[in-house]
Amino acid sequence: MADTAPNSWESRADTYSLYGFTDLPSVHARGAVVVTHGKGPYIYDTHGREYLDANSGLWNMVAGFDHPGLTETAKAQYDRLPGYHAFFGRMSDQTVMLSEKLVEVSPFEKGRVFYTNSGSEANDTMVKILWFLHAAEGKPQRRKILTRWNGYHGVTAVSASMTGKPYNSVFGLPLPGFIHLGCPHYWRFGQPGETEAQFTARLAAELEATIIKEGPDTIAGFFAEPVMGAGGVIPPSSGYFHAVVPILRKYGIPIISDEVICGFGRTGNTWGCETYDFVPDAIISSKNLTAGYFPMGAVILGDELARRVQAAAEAIEEFPHGFTASGHPVGCAIALKAIDVVMNEGLAQNVRELTPHFEAGLARLAEHPNIGEWRGKGFMGALEAVRDKATRTPFDGSLSVSERIANACTDTGLICRPLGQSIVLCPPFIITREQMDEMFEKLETALKRVFDEVA
Ligand SMILES: *Cc1c(COP(=O)(O)O)cnc(C)c1O
Repeated sequence: MADTAPNSWESRADTYSLYGFTDLPSVHARGAVVVTHGKGPYIYDTHGREYLDANSGLWNMVAGFDHPGLTETAKAQYDRLPGYHAFFGRMSDQTVMLSEKLVEVSPFEKGRVFYTNSGSEANDTMVKILWFLHAAEGKPQRRKILTRWNGYHGVTAVSASMTGKPYNSVFGLPLPGFIHLGCPHYWRFGQPGETEAQFTARLAAELEATIIKEGPDTIAGFFAEPVMGAGGVIPPSSGYFHAVVPILRKYGIPIISDEVICGFGRTGNTWGCETYDFVPDAIISSKNLTAGYFPMGAVILGDELARRVQAAAEAIEEFPHGFTASGHPVGCAIALKAIDVVMNEGLAQNVRELTPHFEAGLARLAEHPNIGEWRGKGFMGALEAVRDKATRTPFDGSLSVSERIANACTDTGLICRPLGQSIVLCPPFIITREQMDEMFEKLETALKRVFDEVA
């Protein structure tokens, strides 16, 4: 299958690249898909093969791979000012405009924005902001960070510590002081006989017990994705945020909504916190922020946190933090355009209009005896493979079922991603109804092939 000639793209990739988050047996056997260009929701490899990318790259290429407005904006900004920093009281005009825009479209009346190059760095920065703030307010012991099992917040030492996935143990992570609460996935973690409301109440009680046990005055903040993304597309159990937010408020614990995936329309509203009807103290944005056309992340502080952090910085005359490329003018120009494209050129609307069709397609595939459940919100969906539907028993891990499904999809010209025992679909916002049908047809073919082999 893999092109093994020493000068093939596959061999060259395999020889010189340290693959990240890649199933090595699959890539050695099959060769990497080396991508040359894209068009709409499709990508093309070095063999000229076409793939419908049902994962929007990594959730981020929401406007597809050749949006003329975005590439022209990038080219124009490269001609005007191709790079600048945001230190020492200097920053580009694009950076000024983007901060205004982000506060305007945020759930906050007022606020302040800090830029990074990625979502991981934005979460890392937010943790530093909280540590800085609490210390400045005379509470240097407020350093513990609360997140959830299966939450994904990134890969830097701090954001990987926040991420609740077992693979981080190979790095000796999490660091001390990073506490993981229960994952709000009712289908998987609900106990026999427990209703969804009881399950939610149990998680809320666990949160409060944890706060009391650790000491409310030792906790710096709570971070959550409105819908867990890389943890397997897990919408919260019903009433989850309405149950946990008041508890966090009661103990004065800042609530940070990690909107790196949910932000800018993925769940059908501008923000995931809007979809679940809560107002956080700060928002973390990345991925869709630039529609994937530039690496960039942002911390958007709501009014109250912005005022407190600003006061803490004024007191020492500086906030001593920043990345060389923070607020990069090309990234900011692209983000301004991407926000306009998503919100005003029909992309967000397309998500809302096609969500019922997307859900119907997922529900239809979930009728298969080896699909335990479908779940999702807006344009985020997952199908969970099971050996036994009634008992929700997963396939044996050694069968690598979700990798096999993803590989079978690749063979049919569809890119979708395995996560645990599930298959994730998060199509770009520009996808048409016909392309969505193509996506489900290809996925159905792949599922049938793999389940015939393993079931
Ligand atoms: C992808 C992701 C991150 C990390 O972003 P990177 O740009 O990969 O560092 C953080 N939080 C969430 C919710 C993500 O999906």
